[in-house]
This record gives sequence, structure tokens and C-alpha cells, in this order.
Amino acid sequence: MLSTIFRGARVYDGSGRPPQVVDVATYGDRVVLIGRLDEQDAREIVDCTGLALAPGFIDVHGHTDELWLIEPRVESKLRQGVTTEIGGNCGLSAAPLVHDVLRRQRAERLKDYGIELSWSSMDEFLTLVERERPAINVATLVGLGTTRANVAGDDPRPLEREQSATQERLVREAVEAGALGVSSGLIYPPGSYATTEELSAMAQAAASAGAPLYATHLRSESDALEEAVDEALRIGRTAGVTVQLSHHKAWGKRNWGRVHRTLAVIDAARDAGEPVFADAYPYLGAWTELAQILPPSSRIGGVEATLERLRDPAQRAGIALAVELVWQGRWHEILITDVASARNEELAGQRIGELGRSWGVKPVAAALQLLLEERLTPAAIFFEMTQSDVDAVFSARFVAVGSDASGRALRGVTARGLPHPRAFGTFPRAVGRYSRRRRIYDLAEGVRRATSLPAAIFGLRDRGLIERGTFADLLLFDEEALIDRATYEEPTLLPEGIRAVYVNGVCVLRDGAFTGERSGRVLRHT
Ligand SMILES: [Zn+2]
Repeated sequence: MLSTIFRGARVYDGSGRPPQVVDVATYGDRVVLIGRLDEQDAREIVDCTGLALAPGFIDVHGHTDELWLIEPRVESKLRQGVTTEIGGNCGLSAAPLVHDVLRRQRAERLKDYGIELSWSSMDEFLTLVERERPAINVATLVGLGTTRANVAGDDPRPLEREQSATQERLVREAVEAGALGVSSGLIYPPGSYATTEELSAMAQAAASAGAPLYATHLRSESDALEEAVDEALRIGRTAGVTVQLSHHKAWGKRNWGRVHRTLAVIDAARDAGEPVFADAYPYLGAWTELAQILPPSSRIGGVEATLERLRDPAQRAGIALAVELVWQGRWHEILITDVASARNEELAGQRIGELGRSWGVKPVAAALQLLLEERLTPAAIFFEMTQSDVDAVFSARFVAVGSDASGRALRGVTARGLPHPRAFGTFPRAVGRYSRRRRIYDLAEGVRRATSLPAAIFGLRDRGLIERGTFADLLLFDEEALIDRATYEEPTLLPEGIRAVYVNGVCVLRDGAFTGERSGRVLRHT
């Protein structure tokens, strides 16, 4: 007997075509029949009158990674209708971890979450995730910041030939274990120390192991945005790989409008046959480490070396001067979201300007003091984008949706701090609000950006479309109601309009309640 029949839904099949009212039947983990199925019987019949059915959303830019081990429901994503998350972005992945110092640093950080570092290779990590039975499908890239840290620690110099060979081996092994490609995060040390040549060589190593994909957080999203896009395209050409520009945007008022130029450059490359794509989140605030305000020179040598400089009054004064040059008059644009220590925990939700006032010091002094006390770990939202840029990016047909967030629960360790609203709102906002209210595209196109487009870019076979034979990752929703509610003030408000989420044919969320099933899989590149 058939497993489930979804009767009479308006079916958005993920291709971008207008919806059709048809019945969809699953058997086991697959869609098996589409059409008029009045005569058919199934173990479960879902009356979908007045509702829409689409492929589950695919989050191409996730950062859950190790947290999959303790939050396998990936609640914040599942509740948006996400059925597949791709992690390992921005040069940072959960594996490989073979270098002693790196292992110690990572183990320390994971201890905060109650995670014991018990893996070193990508294969071991993915096997552990499989054992936790995630509720959604998960996949990962291998981060070139992570692989570089394995072979060179915090050393900013170009790699020796032997180090380079070792890094290539780590990349190949990760791909053979299932990584979908490589990622870089060229503003985060030590990944930022990689030269264009090094990145090309690593992308090539991934390609030779069967995963020709390079996803990149560009070297600059502000003053040198165009140069950074050129570098990424060069790497794509040299290595012969697909290029995915992560969270595409222009940062800082003086750079607003530049995305029109980068989008034109990408268009031209695509017209010339180059496989170049991008992803974006539909918000004006960026969310990253507060330490991004520090000049790169002050971070050479790693965390300890940076803290040492901040402790030294003379060096700290120099750093303050450099930071002030960039941020003076704009401290209200930075909102603290995450502070680890109990002493400073309640600072989450404050702007740096307010912090300065409450500590009775200049904002720059408050920011540096906080970084020092918290060992560079605080996260912050930077209000640096403009809506017309975000609209322009979302208007481009090669732009997929990516949350740039880790999965969070509403309780427990992953609920600590204050998230960016994108953690709970990205998909209903990009698909619902951006089609119905902002009219960037129609709903069918919004669905495509979150389903078949990402599946095609990342090579996720038989996902992202509702067709005979595809996996039954399905989202039942109310198309008039689908919308995000999370705000900067109340970032964990759940979206509206999601009725049920099926992962590999099994219902995991129905009318806002978990069913208890966790039917996700680890999707390994094959
Ligand atoms: Zn990033």
C-alpha cells in the first residue's frame, strides 16, 4: 500500500512552474505518483484542500555543524520548513581535526556545549551525526580555514610545499568521506592567510576527488568587493569548479549599490558558461564575530597573541585608534548578541554605544574591553546593508536562499544568547514575504530558490523537486499565511503558515508539534 497521499494540494514542484492542483503519493522515502489519485488508498491520507505542497527547503548556508550532535532536531530550521541543511561554510567545518593545538582549541570551545571532541576525520564526524539521527538531512562542505589550521596553525605565511600536500590530502579525504565541496572564509584567520593559488589548488583537490565546488565568504564584502568577486571567479576557472558566493552583499553605506556591478560580473561569467551562483539571507543586519572590528594585523598569531596585544596599554591604544577610524559615530550600528561568560551574559541585546555609556567609557574602549574579557568570542549584529541591495541580489535568478545561521532550539544550550532573526525567519521571509509582500518574484520562483536551485548547485540528487522518484522531503503550508515573525527584538518568534514537514517520507513536524520521528540522513557526496 502507498504510504501517504497528499490530496488536492496546490503543488509547487520546485521547478519554478506555476502550481497545479494534483494529488501526490509517497511510498517509503520517495514520491511515486502524481496526478488524480481518487482510486488509490494509502496508510495516511492528508486532505490538502486550500493548502500548498512544495519540496522541503534546502538551507545552503548553515553553520550548525558540531551542534547537530546535541540538537539533532535542528529546531529553528525544521520549523521554517527546511528539510536539508548544508554546513561547513565560511571556511569552518567540524572536521578534519588532526593537529594537536587545533584539537585542544576546538575541544575547549565544544566543552561549552557539552560536546566531547571524539572524532578527527570527516568520516568519523559524519558517522557520529548519523548515529544521532537528525530530524532533517544534513550535508557539509570541508572548510579551508579548518584544513589550513590543521597544517599551519595560525601561521600567516604561504604554505611550504609539504604543508600544501598535506592540506590537499585532508581535502581529498574529506570529500571521499562525503563533503560536497570546499568552503573558504577569507576574513577569518587563519583561513584568510590562504593565497589565491592555495585556494585554487585546494578546490582542484576537491574536484579531483569528485566534488568540484568552491563556496566562498569573499575576502572583502566592502571596499574591495569587486576584486574579491574576481578572485573567486579566477579560482573557479583555474580549478574548473562551480563557484558559490556566500551571503552576497555590500557592507557599509559607502559601498551600497556595488552589488549591481558584482551581479553584472556574475551574469557575464554565467553567459560565458561558467557555473557561478550565490546565496543570500533577506535581512539588513550581518551577524558575525565582534572581533571583526579589529584590524587584521592585530590578529596575527591567533587568539592568545591578539589578547596579549589588547592587554598591553600602548598596543591597545594603537588598536583603538585604528578601530575608531572605522567605527567612530557608528557604534549604534553594532548590536551584541552572544556573550559566553555569566558575568557579561546580560549584555546581549545592547548596542556598543550603550555599553560604553553604561560602563562610563568611550564605546571603542568598551568594545575592546569586552573582546578582551571574553577572549574574542562575542558575536554581534552589524547593521550595514541597504534594502535596495538586498532586493537586487534576490532578484537575480542564480541566487539561492541561505540562512547563514546555526540550528537552535527554543531551550537548552543552543538557545543561549540572542540569535539574529534569520535563524528562525530566513525561509518564510525569503519565500513568503519576498514574494507576496515585496513582490521580488512570484511564490513559485521563491520556492525554486529554496529547493531545486540549491539542489542543483550542490549536486543533491533527487531532492529539491516533486517528481516521480524524488525523495519525499515535503512541506505542506498555507501560501497566504507563510511569513516570518522573528525580529531583532524578538528573534525566536516562530514563522507562520507551516502545516507539516516530511523528511524522507516521514512526518517530523505537524501543526507546530514534533512527531518524535527523526528521519533525516547524512547526505554524502557520491
Ligand atoms: Zn560567512
